[in-house]
Amino acid sequence: MKKLIAAVVALFFIQFLNAQTHLLCGKLVDTKSGKIESKKTVIVEGNKIVKVIDGYLIPKNTNITVVDLKDKVVMPGLIDFHVHIEHEYDKKTQLKRFILDEADIAFNAAKFASITLQNGFTAVRDLGGTGVNISLRKAIDAGTIEGPRVFTAGKSIATTGGHADPTNGSARHLIGNPGPKEGVVNSVEDAKKAVRQRYKNGADCIKITATGGVLSVAKSGDNPQFTIEEVKAICETARDYGMHVAAHAHGDVGMQRAVLGGVKTIEHGTYMSDETMEIMIKNDAYLVPTITAGKEVAEKAKVKGFYPDIVVPKALAVGPQIQGTFARAYKKGVGIAFGTDAGVFPHGNNGKEFKYMVEAGMPAMETIQSATITNAKLLKMENELGQIKGGFLADIIAVNDDPTKKIETMENVVFVMKNGVIYKYLMLKYLQIHLFKLIN
Ligand SMILES: [Zn+2]
Repeated sequence: MKKLIAAVVALFFIQFLNAQTHLLCGKLVDTKSGKIESKKTVIVEGNKIVKVIDGYLIPKNTNITVVDLKDKVVMPGLIDFHVHIEHEYDKKTQLKRFILDEADIAFNAAKFASITLQNGFTAVRDLGGTGVNISLRKAIDAGTIEGPRVFTAGKSIATTGGHADPTNGSARHLIGNPGPKEGVVNSVEDAKKAVRQRYKNGADCIKITATGGVLSVAKSGDNPQFTIEEVKAICETARDYGMHVAAHAHGDVGMQRAVLGGVKTIEHGTYMSDETMEIMIKNDAYLVPTITAGKEVAEKAKVKGFYPDIVVPKALAVGPQIQGTFARAYKKGVGIAFGTDAGVFPHGNNGKEFKYMVEAGMPAMETIQSATITNAKLLKMENELGQIKGGFLADIIAVNDDPTKKIETMENVVFVMKNGVIYKYLMLKYLQIHLFKLIN
Protein backbone atom coordinates (compact mmCIF):
# COMPACT_ATOMS: atom_id res chain seq x y z
CA MET A 1 0.00 0.00 0.00
CA LYS A 2 2.82 2.39 0.94
CA LYS A 3 4.46 1.67 -2.39
CA LEU A 4 1.24 2.45 -4.23
CA ILE A 5 0.88 5.77 -2.42
CA ALA A 6 4.49 6.62 -3.25
CA ALA A 7 3.82 5.78 -6.90
CA VAL A 8 0.73 7.98 -6.94
CA VAL A 9 2.60 10.90 -5.42
CA ALA A 10 5.49 10.39 -7.81
CA LEU A 11 3.13 10.37 -10.77
CA PHE A 12 1.60 13.65 -9.71
CA PHE A 13 5.00 15.28 -9.61
CA ILE A 14 6.09 13.83 -12.94
CA GLN A 15 4.69 16.97 -14.54
CA PHE A 16 7.39 19.03 -12.86
CA LEU A 17 10.11 16.86 -14.33
CA ASN A 18 8.73 16.20 -17.77
CA ALA A 19 9.84 18.51 -20.48
CA GLN A 20 6.59 18.28 -22.40
CA THR A 21 2.91 18.08 -21.62
CA HIS A 22 0.22 17.13 -24.13
CA LEU A 23 -3.26 18.44 -23.37
CA LEU A 24 -5.90 16.43 -25.23
CA CYS A 25 -8.74 18.93 -25.69
CA GLY A 26 -12.25 17.78 -26.62
CA LYS A 27 -13.18 21.40 -27.29
CA LEU A 28 -10.84 24.37 -27.54
CA VAL A 29 -11.92 28.02 -27.43
CA ASP A 30 -10.15 30.13 -30.04
CA THR A 31 -10.47 33.56 -28.42
CA LYS A 32 -9.12 35.28 -31.53
CA SER A 33 -11.78 34.02 -33.94
CA GLY A 34 -14.47 33.52 -31.30
CA LYS A 35 -14.97 29.91 -32.44
CA ILE A 36 -14.93 26.66 -30.47
CA GLU A 37 -12.87 23.98 -32.17
CA SER A 38 -12.97 20.22 -31.61
CA LYS A 39 -10.34 17.56 -30.94
CA LYS A 40 -7.05 19.39 -30.55
CA THR A 41 -3.79 18.65 -28.78
CA VAL A 42 -1.97 21.52 -27.10
CA ILE A 43 1.72 20.83 -26.67
CA VAL A 44 3.35 22.63 -23.76
CA GLU A 45 7.06 22.75 -23.08
CA GLY A 46 8.49 24.59 -20.07
CA ASN A 47 6.30 27.65 -19.55
CA LYS A 48 5.29 28.05 -23.19
CA ILE A 49 2.81 26.61 -25.64
CA VAL A 50 4.82 24.97 -28.45
CA LYS A 51 1.92 24.44 -30.84
CA VAL A 52 -1.68 23.35 -31.24
CA ILE A 53 -2.31 20.41 -33.56
CA ASP A 54 -5.43 18.76 -34.99
CA GLY A 55 -6.59 15.51 -33.38
CA TYR A 56 -5.26 13.75 -30.28
CA LEU A 57 -1.54 13.11 -30.16
CA ILE A 58 -0.79 10.49 -27.51
CA PRO A 59 2.98 10.10 -27.38
CA LYS A 60 4.70 6.73 -26.93
CA ASN A 61 7.41 8.42 -24.86
CA THR A 62 6.43 8.10 -21.18
CA ASN A 63 8.51 11.15 -20.36
CA ILE A 64 5.72 13.22 -21.82
CA THR A 65 2.84 14.05 -19.47
CA VAL A 66 -0.57 13.49 -21.05
CA VAL A 67 -3.61 15.28 -19.67
CA ASP A 68 -7.00 14.00 -20.77
CA LEU A 69 -9.38 16.91 -21.31
CA LYS A 70 -11.35 15.12 -24.02
CA ASP A 71 -14.66 15.80 -22.28
CA LYS A 72 -13.77 19.38 -21.33
CA VAL A 73 -13.84 22.80 -22.91
CA VAL A 74 -10.34 24.28 -22.83
CA MET A 75 -9.57 27.99 -23.02
CA PRO A 76 -6.83 30.49 -22.14
CA GLY A 77 -6.39 31.40 -18.46
CA LEU A 78 -8.77 34.17 -17.39
CA ILE A 79 -7.62 37.68 -16.50
CA ASP A 80 -9.57 39.68 -13.90
CA PHE A 81 -8.81 43.38 -14.31
CA HIS A 82 -10.09 44.49 -10.92
CA VAL A 83 -9.36 42.64 -7.69
CA HIS A 84 -8.13 43.58 -4.22
CA ILE A 85 -5.99 40.57 -3.49
CA GLU A 86 -5.01 41.66 0.04
CA HIS A 87 -8.49 41.91 1.50
CA GLU A 88 -11.95 40.46 1.70
CA TYR A 89 -14.68 42.74 3.02
CA ASP A 90 -16.56 41.62 6.14
CA LYS A 91 -18.17 43.10 9.25
CA LYS A 92 -14.75 43.65 10.84
CA THR A 93 -13.18 45.54 7.94
CA GLN A 94 -13.23 48.90 9.76
CA LEU A 95 -11.50 47.38 12.78
CA LYS A 96 -8.94 45.46 10.73
CA ARG A 97 -7.22 48.69 9.71
CA PHE A 98 -6.11 49.07 13.29
CA ILE A 99 -5.35 45.51 14.32
CA LEU A 100 -3.73 43.84 11.29
CA ASP A 101 0.02 43.90 10.79
CA GLU A 102 1.52 43.66 7.32
CA ALA A 103 2.38 40.03 8.03
CA ASP A 104 -1.29 39.29 8.81
CA ILE A 105 -2.30 40.92 5.54
CA ALA A 106 0.34 38.92 3.69
CA PHE A 107 -0.89 35.57 4.98
CA ASN A 108 -4.45 36.47 4.03
CA ALA A 109 -3.33 37.66 0.61
CA ALA A 110 -1.52 34.37 -0.01
CA LYS A 111 -4.77 32.51 0.67
CA PHE A 112 -6.81 34.79 -1.62
CA ALA A 113 -4.21 34.46 -4.38
CA SER A 114 -4.41 30.67 -4.24
CA ILE A 115 -8.24 30.68 -4.31
CA THR A 116 -8.20 33.04 -7.28
CA LEU A 117 -5.85 30.81 -9.27
CA GLN A 118 -7.79 27.66 -8.37
CA ASN A 119 -10.87 29.28 -9.90
CA GLY A 120 -9.23 29.78 -13.29
CA PHE A 121 -7.91 33.32 -13.01
CA THR A 122 -4.28 32.98 -14.02
CA ALA A 123 -3.72 36.75 -14.03
CA VAL A 124 -5.20 39.66 -12.10
CA ARG A 125 -4.82 43.40 -12.00
CA ASP A 126 -4.80 44.34 -8.34
CA LEU A 127 -6.30 47.80 -7.90
CA GLY A 128 -5.22 48.82 -4.48
CA GLY A 129 -4.15 47.63 -1.07
CA THR A 130 -1.47 48.57 1.42
CA GLY A 131 1.54 47.74 -0.74
CA VAL A 132 1.79 44.16 0.51
CA ASN A 133 0.38 43.31 -2.94
CA ILE A 134 3.80 44.14 -4.43
CA SER A 135 5.53 41.65 -2.11
CA LEU A 136 2.82 39.12 -2.96
CA ARG A 137 3.60 39.47 -6.67
CA LYS A 138 7.28 38.88 -5.95
CA ALA A 139 6.53 35.77 -3.87
CA ILE A 140 4.30 34.32 -6.61
CA ASP A 141 6.84 35.10 -9.35
CA ALA A 142 9.57 33.46 -7.27
CA GLY A 143 7.43 30.33 -6.84
CA THR A 144 7.34 30.73 -3.04
CA ILE A 145 3.53 30.65 -3.01
CA GLU A 146 0.88 29.81 -5.60
CA GLY A 147 -1.22 32.50 -7.21
CA PRO A 148 -2.07 34.23 -10.45
CA ARG A 149 0.22 36.62 -12.31
CA VAL A 150 -0.27 39.88 -10.41
CA PHE A 151 -0.16 43.33 -11.97
CA THR A 152 -0.62 45.71 -9.08
CA ALA A 153 -1.23 49.39 -8.43
CA GLY A 154 0.23 49.08 -4.92
CA LYS A 155 -1.61 51.68 -2.86
CA SER A 156 -4.33 53.68 -4.68
CA ILE A 157 -4.05 57.45 -5.08
CA ALA A 158 -6.82 59.62 -3.59
CA THR A 159 -7.34 63.23 -2.49
CA THR A 160 -7.79 64.29 1.14
CA GLY A 161 -11.01 62.73 2.44
CA GLY A 162 -11.52 61.01 -0.90
CA HIS A 163 -12.26 57.36 -1.55
CA ALA A 164 -9.03 55.51 -0.60
CA ASP A 165 -7.71 58.20 1.75
CA PRO A 166 -6.40 55.61 4.23
CA THR A 167 -7.42 57.57 7.32
CA ASN A 168 -11.07 58.21 6.40
CA GLY A 169 -13.41 57.61 9.29
CA SER A 170 -10.68 57.49 11.92
CA ALA A 171 -10.76 59.43 15.18
CA ARG A 172 -9.17 62.85 14.67
CA HIS A 173 -6.07 62.06 16.72
CA LEU A 174 -5.37 59.11 14.40
CA ILE A 175 -5.84 60.94 11.11
CA GLY A 176 -2.36 62.51 10.87
CA ASN A 177 -1.40 64.11 7.58
CA PRO A 178 -1.09 61.49 4.83
CA GLY A 179 0.62 62.75 1.68
CA PRO A 180 1.80 61.49 -1.74
CA LYS A 181 3.78 58.65 -0.18
CA GLU A 182 0.60 57.30 1.43
CA GLY A 183 -1.35 57.97 -1.76
CA VAL A 184 -3.04 61.25 -0.84
CA VAL A 185 -2.49 64.17 -3.23
CA ASN A 186 -3.80 67.72 -3.35
CA SER A 187 -1.93 69.38 -6.20
CA VAL A 188 -0.28 68.69 -9.53
CA GLU A 189 3.10 68.40 -7.80
CA ASP A 190 1.73 65.92 -5.25
CA ALA A 191 0.19 63.94 -8.10
CA LYS A 192 3.50 63.54 -9.92
CA LYS A 193 5.28 62.62 -6.72
CA ALA A 194 2.69 59.97 -5.82
CA VAL A 195 3.09 58.28 -9.22
CA ARG A 196 6.88 58.33 -9.02
CA GLN A 197 6.73 56.93 -5.48
CA ARG A 198 4.60 54.03 -6.73
CA TYR A 199 7.05 53.36 -9.53
CA LYS A 200 9.84 53.31 -6.94
CA ASN A 201 7.82 50.95 -4.72
CA GLY A 202 7.42 48.52 -7.64
CA ALA A 203 3.84 49.09 -8.81
CA ASP A 204 2.89 47.96 -12.33
CA CYS A 205 0.06 50.44 -12.90
CA ILE A 206 -1.66 53.38 -11.18
CA LYS A 207 -5.11 53.50 -9.61
CA ILE A 208 -6.89 56.72 -8.75
CA THR A 209 -10.23 57.21 -7.03
CA ALA A 210 -11.75 59.80 -9.37
CA THR A 211 -15.04 60.02 -7.45
CA GLY A 212 -16.49 59.07 -4.09
CA GLY A 213 -16.96 55.39 -3.41
CA VAL A 214 -19.44 53.10 -1.74
CA LEU A 215 -17.34 51.46 0.96
CA SER A 216 -15.35 54.46 2.22
CA VAL A 217 -16.51 56.10 5.44
CA ALA A 218 -17.56 59.34 3.73
CA LYS A 219 -20.85 60.87 2.72
CA SER A 220 -20.81 60.95 -1.08
CA GLY A 221 -20.45 57.91 -3.31
CA ASP A 222 -20.16 59.86 -6.54
CA ASN A 223 -18.71 63.38 -6.10
CA PRO A 224 -15.72 64.37 -8.29
CA GLN A 225 -12.51 64.22 -6.24
CA PHE A 226 -9.68 65.26 -8.54
CA THR A 227 -9.19 68.34 -10.70
CA ILE A 228 -8.57 67.60 -14.36
CA GLU A 229 -5.07 69.09 -13.97
CA GLU A 230 -4.30 66.54 -11.24
CA VAL A 231 -5.61 63.66 -13.38
CA LYS A 232 -3.54 64.84 -16.35
CA ALA A 233 -0.41 65.11 -14.20
CA ILE A 234 -0.95 61.54 -12.97
CA CYS A 235 -1.59 60.10 -16.43
CA GLU A 236 1.31 61.92 -18.08
CA THR A 237 3.75 60.93 -15.33
CA ALA A 238 2.50 57.33 -15.40
CA ARG A 239 3.00 57.22 -19.17
CA ASP A 240 6.61 58.39 -18.74
CA TYR A 241 7.18 55.41 -16.43
CA GLY A 242 5.44 52.88 -18.69
CA MET A 243 2.30 52.51 -16.59
CA HIS A 244 -1.39 52.94 -17.43
CA VAL A 245 -3.96 54.51 -15.09
CA ALA A 246 -7.20 52.99 -13.82
CA ALA A 247 -9.87 55.24 -12.31
CA HIS A 248 -12.50 54.19 -9.83
CA ALA A 249 -15.57 56.28 -10.76
CA HIS A 250 -19.29 56.24 -10.00
CA GLY A 251 -20.28 59.88 -10.72
CA ASP A 252 -20.31 61.23 -14.26
CA VAL A 253 -18.43 64.52 -13.68
CA GLY A 254 -15.38 62.90 -12.11
CA MET A 255 -15.54 60.08 -14.66
CA GLN A 256 -15.48 62.48 -17.58
CA ARG A 257 -12.50 64.36 -16.10
CA ALA A 258 -10.72 61.03 -15.69
CA VAL A 259 -11.24 60.00 -19.31
CA LEU A 260 -10.32 63.45 -20.67
CA GLY A 261 -7.29 63.42 -18.37
CA GLY A 262 -6.02 60.22 -19.98
CA VAL A 263 -7.01 57.20 -17.87
CA LYS A 264 -7.20 53.85 -19.66
CA THR A 265 -9.94 52.13 -17.68
CA ILE A 266 -13.01 53.35 -15.80
CA GLU A 267 -13.90 51.06 -12.91
CA HIS A 268 -17.64 50.58 -12.17
CA GLY A 269 -18.83 53.57 -14.27
CA THR A 270 -22.16 53.61 -12.42
CA TYR A 271 -23.72 56.93 -13.46
CA MET A 272 -22.03 57.14 -16.87
CA SER A 273 -23.84 59.47 -19.30
CA ASP A 274 -24.16 58.83 -23.02
CA GLU A 275 -21.81 61.76 -23.58
CA THR A 276 -19.11 60.15 -21.40
CA MET A 277 -19.58 56.86 -23.26
CA GLU A 278 -18.87 58.69 -26.52
CA ILE A 279 -15.78 60.33 -25.01
CA MET A 280 -14.59 56.90 -23.85
CA ILE A 281 -14.96 55.44 -27.33
CA LYS A 282 -13.12 58.42 -28.84
CA ASN A 283 -10.28 58.13 -26.31
CA ASP A 284 -10.05 54.32 -26.48
CA ALA A 285 -10.84 54.02 -22.76
CA TYR A 286 -12.40 50.80 -21.42
CA LEU A 287 -15.13 50.11 -18.88
CA VAL A 288 -14.37 47.52 -16.17
CA PRO A 289 -17.92 46.52 -15.14
CA THR A 290 -17.60 44.95 -11.62
CA ILE A 291 -21.28 43.86 -11.72
CA THR A 292 -20.63 41.15 -9.10
CA ALA A 293 -19.48 43.79 -6.59
CA GLY A 294 -22.55 45.92 -7.35
CA LYS A 295 -24.86 43.00 -6.62
CA GLU A 296 -22.94 42.10 -3.46
CA VAL A 297 -23.04 45.58 -1.88
CA ALA A 298 -26.76 45.99 -2.68
CA GLU A 299 -27.48 42.69 -0.97
CA LYS A 300 -25.16 43.11 2.03
CA ALA A 301 -26.54 46.63 2.68
CA LYS A 302 -29.76 44.91 3.73
CA VAL A 303 -27.91 42.93 6.43
CA LYS A 304 -28.05 45.04 9.59
CA GLY A 305 -24.60 46.00 10.86
CA PHE A 306 -22.63 44.56 7.93
CA TYR A 307 -21.57 48.01 6.69
CA PRO A 308 -21.06 51.22 8.71
CA ASP A 309 -24.29 53.31 8.72
CA ILE A 310 -22.84 55.93 6.36
CA VAL A 311 -22.14 53.25 3.72
CA VAL A 312 -25.64 51.70 3.62
CA PRO A 313 -27.51 54.36 1.57
CA LYS A 314 -24.62 54.54 -0.92
CA ALA A 315 -24.57 50.76 -1.36
CA LEU A 316 -28.34 50.68 -1.89
CA ALA A 317 -28.17 53.47 -4.48
CA VAL A 318 -25.05 52.50 -6.44
CA GLY A 319 -25.11 48.69 -6.31
CA PRO A 320 -28.24 48.01 -8.37
CA GLN A 321 -27.23 50.52 -11.11
CA ILE A 322 -24.02 48.87 -12.26
CA GLN A 323 -25.42 46.06 -14.41
CA GLY A 324 -27.73 48.47 -16.26
CA THR A 325 -24.89 50.88 -17.00
CA PHE A 326 -22.80 48.02 -18.33
CA ALA A 327 -25.69 46.99 -20.62
CA ARG A 328 -25.93 50.54 -22.03
CA ALA A 329 -22.18 50.95 -22.45
CA TYR A 330 -21.80 47.59 -24.20
CA LYS A 331 -24.66 48.38 -26.57
CA LYS A 332 -23.14 51.76 -27.37
CA GLY A 333 -19.80 50.19 -28.27
CA VAL A 334 -17.61 51.10 -25.28
CA GLY A 335 -14.69 48.66 -24.93
CA ILE A 336 -15.23 46.24 -22.05
CA ALA A 337 -12.36 44.93 -19.91
CA PHE A 338 -13.55 42.03 -17.72
CA GLY A 339 -13.15 42.87 -14.02
CA THR A 340 -15.06 42.03 -10.86
CA ASP A 341 -13.77 43.92 -7.75
CA ALA A 342 -13.17 40.61 -5.94
CA GLY A 343 -12.40 41.36 -2.31
CA VAL A 344 -15.61 43.40 -2.08
CA PHE A 345 -17.14 39.90 -2.38
CA PRO A 346 -15.34 36.62 -1.52
CA HIS A 347 -12.32 35.82 -3.68
CA GLY A 348 -12.88 32.85 -5.97
CA ASN A 349 -16.36 33.96 -7.00
CA ASN A 350 -14.92 36.05 -9.85
CA GLY A 351 -16.50 33.71 -12.42
CA LYS A 352 -20.01 34.92 -11.56
CA GLU A 353 -19.32 38.08 -13.54
CA PHE A 354 -19.67 36.10 -16.82
CA LYS A 355 -23.30 35.21 -16.07
CA TYR A 356 -24.14 38.80 -15.13
CA MET A 357 -22.55 40.15 -18.33
CA VAL A 358 -24.52 37.67 -20.44
CA GLU A 359 -27.72 38.62 -18.57
CA ALA A 360 -27.04 42.24 -19.55
CA GLY A 361 -26.79 41.42 -23.25
CA MET A 362 -23.15 40.57 -24.00
CA PRO A 363 -22.75 37.26 -25.88
CA ALA A 364 -20.92 34.58 -23.86
CA MET A 365 -18.01 34.37 -26.28
CA GLU A 366 -17.44 38.12 -26.04
CA THR A 367 -17.35 37.94 -22.24
CA ILE A 368 -14.57 35.34 -22.52
CA GLN A 369 -12.73 37.45 -25.10
CA SER A 370 -13.00 40.40 -22.71
CA ALA A 371 -11.38 38.32 -19.94
CA THR A 372 -8.61 37.08 -22.24
CA ILE A 373 -7.55 38.94 -25.40
CA THR A 374 -8.88 42.37 -24.37
CA ASN A 375 -7.19 42.37 -20.97
CA ALA A 376 -3.99 40.90 -22.45
CA LYS A 377 -3.94 43.76 -24.95
CA LEU A 378 -4.43 46.37 -22.21
CA LEU A 379 -1.49 44.81 -20.35
CA LYS A 380 0.52 45.10 -23.60
CA MET A 381 0.94 41.32 -23.47
CA GLU A 382 -1.26 40.44 -26.44
CA ASN A 383 1.53 38.30 -27.88
CA GLU A 384 1.98 36.33 -24.66
CA LEU A 385 -1.39 36.00 -22.91
CA GLY A 386 -5.06 35.59 -23.85
CA GLN A 387 -4.77 32.92 -26.56
CA ILE A 388 -3.81 29.26 -26.84
CA LYS A 389 -1.27 29.53 -29.58
CA GLY A 390 2.34 28.56 -30.30
CA GLY A 391 4.80 30.87 -28.55
CA PHE A 392 2.28 32.09 -25.95
CA LEU A 393 2.71 31.55 -22.21
CA ALA A 394 1.05 28.30 -21.08
CA ASP A 395 -1.83 29.76 -19.03
CA ILE A 396 -4.66 27.33 -19.78
CA ILE A 397 -7.89 26.33 -18.02
CA ALA A 398 -10.83 24.00 -18.67
CA VAL A 399 -14.51 23.85 -17.77
CA ASN A 400 -17.07 21.05 -18.07
CA ASP A 401 -19.56 22.63 -20.47
CA ASP A 402 -19.74 24.82 -23.55
CA PRO A 403 -19.97 28.35 -22.06
CA THR A 404 -21.91 29.62 -25.07
CA LYS A 405 -24.68 27.20 -24.06
CA LYS A 406 -24.23 27.27 -20.28
CA ILE A 407 -22.36 30.31 -19.00
CA GLU A 408 -22.49 29.15 -15.35
CA THR A 409 -19.81 26.62 -16.27
CA MET A 410 -17.32 29.52 -15.87
CA GLU A 411 -17.97 29.28 -12.12
CA ASN A 412 -16.65 25.73 -12.04
CA VAL A 413 -13.14 25.59 -13.47
CA VAL A 414 -11.81 22.02 -13.33
CA PHE A 415 -8.31 22.37 -14.76
CA VAL A 416 -5.75 25.12 -14.23
CA MET A 417 -2.28 25.45 -15.73
CA LYS A 418 -0.22 28.59 -15.20
CA ASN A 419 3.16 29.18 -16.76
CA GLY A 420 3.24 25.51 -17.82
CA VAL A 421 2.59 24.12 -14.31
CA ILE A 422 -0.64 22.29 -13.47
CA TYR A 423 -2.30 23.68 -10.32
CA LYS A 424 -5.65 21.95 -10.56
CA TYR A 425 -6.82 18.77 -12.23
CA LEU A 426 -9.11 15.87 -11.54
CA MET A 427 -6.48 13.59 -10.08
CA LEU A 428 -8.14 10.34 -11.07
CA LYS A 429 -8.16 11.03 -14.79
CA TYR A 430 -4.52 11.99 -14.60
CA LEU A 431 -3.56 8.81 -12.80
CA GLN A 432 -5.63 6.61 -15.10
CA ILE A 433 -3.56 7.71 -18.05
CA HIS A 434 -0.24 7.35 -16.30
CA LEU A 435 -1.02 3.96 -14.80
CA PHE A 436 -2.29 2.81 -18.17
CA LYS A 437 0.95 3.94 -19.75
CA LEU A 438 3.05 2.19 -17.08
CA ILE A 439 1.13 -1.07 -17.37
CA ASN A 440 1.54 -1.09 -21.14
ZN1 LIG B 1 -12.17 48.11 -6.20
